[in-house]
Amino acid sequence: MAGNAGMMTGPGTNTYLLGEGAIAVIDPGPDDAHHLASILAAAGGPIHWVLVTHTHRDHSPLAAELARRSGAQLIGLSPPKDGRQDETFVPHHRPADTERLILGDVEVLAIHTPGHASNCVCYFVERERLLITGDHVLEGVSPVILPPDGNMSDYLNSLDKLLAFDFEYIAPGHGDLMDRGKGVVQALRAHRLAREAKVLRSIPKLNEATLDSLTPLVYDDVPPDRHAWARLTLEAHLIKLVHEGRVLERRGRWSLCSPSEA
Ligand SMILES: [Zn+2]
Repeated sequence: MAGNAGMMTGPGTNTYLLGEGAIAVIDPGPDDAHHLASILAAAGGPIHWVLVTHTHRDHSPLAAELARRSGAQLIGLSPPKDGRQDETFVPHHRPADTERLILGDVEVLAIHTPGHASNCVCYFVERERLLITGDHVLEGVSPVILPPDGNMSDYLNSLDKLLAFDFEYIAPGHGDLMDRGKGVVQALRAHRLAREAKVLRSIPKLNEATLDSLTPLVYDDVPPDRHAWARLTLEAHLIKLVHEGRVLERRGRWSLCSPSEA
């Protein structure tokens, strides 16, 4: 775990090392010399691959330095251009959806899971029934969806997609390993849909439903110091509802579609 604890990183970013002879590193983490030294010490052997789940700046920046030192192949999807990404990450290989990656004595499936960010990939270690999720699934908190690169419809579809795979354990990007992984994904899905229902209930309660007025109402169960982030996920919910024809937006004010407008 990197030493970057914080509101958005929980106890810190988790880095995973796979394999015994040749090592694969997943999510090397932020550009931090102490964490780099920890990874090199823990590897205890040559690092041949560095995989990233996505390119937010708490996950991928050490990849370039590890590749420079070890000649490792960088695997992941390129950073989207939304100003929130680690643009130093230039992959040598962009895995196709559900591509099987042979990493020495370990095999993983790369599963595309857009939503939290558009370039999110989960890595499934089938033999261990272990799913490495980055920020798609976290322990104890639900991931922020960051529009416009992040997308709530995609996020929910990506949760559904995971349920087709036979995993038991989830290794998240932040927080502890979880068992009963399917239940965790189903609970996360239910949480998002409950929040969406609360958005729909809250809009008619306000004279002017704006992001500013909706956030404290929709997130009245969340501490105010998290509302700036919650507002982004709220916006992602609203964009989804507009696309579905359930909500209208005019000049930053949101209203429910009447049946005639739908
Ligand atoms: Zn992230």
